[in-house]
Amino acid sequence: MKTTIHRGHNQIGGSCVEIQSDNTKILLDLGLSLDSNIFEIPDPNDITLAQGEELIKSSEFTDIKGIYIWDKRPNTIDAVLISHSHPDHWGIVQWLKPEIPIYFSESSFKLINKSAQLLGRPKIREDRVKFFKPENTFQVGDLECNPYLVDHSAFEACAFELTDSKHTIFYTGDFRRHGRKNKLWDKVLKKVKQPLDLLIIEGTTLSRPNETPLTEKDLEEQAVTDMKKCDGLSMIWTSSQNIDRLVTVYRAAKRTNRIFVIDPYTAHMLKIAGESNVIPYPSDQFSDVKVYFPQRFSSYLVKQSSEHVLFEFKKYKITKEEISEDPSKYFMIVRPSVKDYLKHLSLDKSILFYSMWEGYRDDEKSMTFLKWLESKGTKEIFLHTSGHADSSTIKKTIDTLQPEHLIPIHTLFPEWFENEYKKTKILKNGNSITLE
Ligand SMILES: [Zn+2]
Ligand SMILES: [Zn+2]
Repeated sequence: MKTTIHRGHNQIGGSCVEIQSDNTKILLDLGLSLDSNIFEIPDPNDITLAQGEELIKSSEFTDIKGIYIWDKRPNTIDAVLISHSHPDHWGIVQWLKPEIPIYFSESSFKLINKSAQLLGRPKIREDRVKFFKPENTFQVGDLECNPYLVDHSAFEACAFELTDSKHTIFYTGDFRRHGRKNKLWDKVLKKVKQPLDLLIIEGTTLSRPNETPLTEKDLEEQAVTDMKKCDGLSMIWTSSQNIDRLVTVYRAAKRTNRIFVIDPYTAHMLKIAGESNVIPYPSDQFSDVKVYFPQRFSSYLVKQSSEHVLFEFKKYKITKEEISEDPSKYFMIVRPSVKDYLKHLSLDKSILFYSMWEGYRDDEKSMTFLKWLESKGTKEIFLHTSGHADSSTIKKTIDTLQPEHLIPIHTLFPEWFENEYKKTKILKNGNSITLE
């Protein structure tokens, strides 16, 4: 088997790995770089050859022969397997030729396409998608593929084990061992086939190799403590696709007798996750989850003729007037785009949990929003933990699986692996290793 790293040996995000067996060639993930803006890329239906070539030249898209819709050369790939719903792992697939099948877990695909519909991004055509179920083996050509459910900040994230007649490769995708599903990783390590010939492992957190991460449970306790002390509205700014975090803060809201107030976008994300798991979403089953309707988002959906996605949660609506009667009864998800809605509420004695990577707060929109909240009397509290494995989990993984070869990916510090493990091979973008 031959493994090629197309992208990701020295960056976080934009990962793409090619695996080639005797008669099959697949890609594991095909993501956008974290600094790419999907709205600036020409629509897949209109993109020209010149625009496509420019995307390759500027390294915005991974350079692989014959796979994109504008490329007249024959396609060279049998399938693309997507590990999870973060755009740095799937964000380029809309521009693939339609004959290339894309494998997703069902919930990942639904989250991606619902989000695209709500935010006006190009959707992925469902007729070219194939679904896999975590823990269920499927076959692509002569490759046996085993997707294992892992703990990560994206819902239903998977690692992949790939086997041909001679070798086994394990690709971790993004994973951790300190989230709400922390027990999953130890189970995965027991299931991976031995002997393992090659391990492709992420190293996102290695810029801080000595830090012990907080768990989601720690965050829940912290949120409870802070909300108990708060006599006003409690708010949180987090990613609506971080289902683990939403469950963490829902539990904290419940423990402090606050109603969990979410926007329609978050409601849709939770509903998709709730279809296959016990996840709280606005429904008769969870009477302590309510939906508020910010004017800007509602008008946008009406303009897109997508009012029906708003109406879906009408029954669970809460109004500004209801929240204003006693803000201390509520815990609300917010973000810069709902500032106009917040202007109608009393923010006296309120708190805001900033619950994302700290780097995101440096852009102008974020800073303006946070400063405005501060000017209204909101106290900001940092409440976050990484979606990625810490160094001790990475070491435990390597020591348990004892792979013959080790390739780092999704990291700014591939050298950490080299220093710790002699068998590390840093495969620079475009380079390959062949297992004999
Ligand atoms: Zn990632
Ligand atoms: Zn991820």
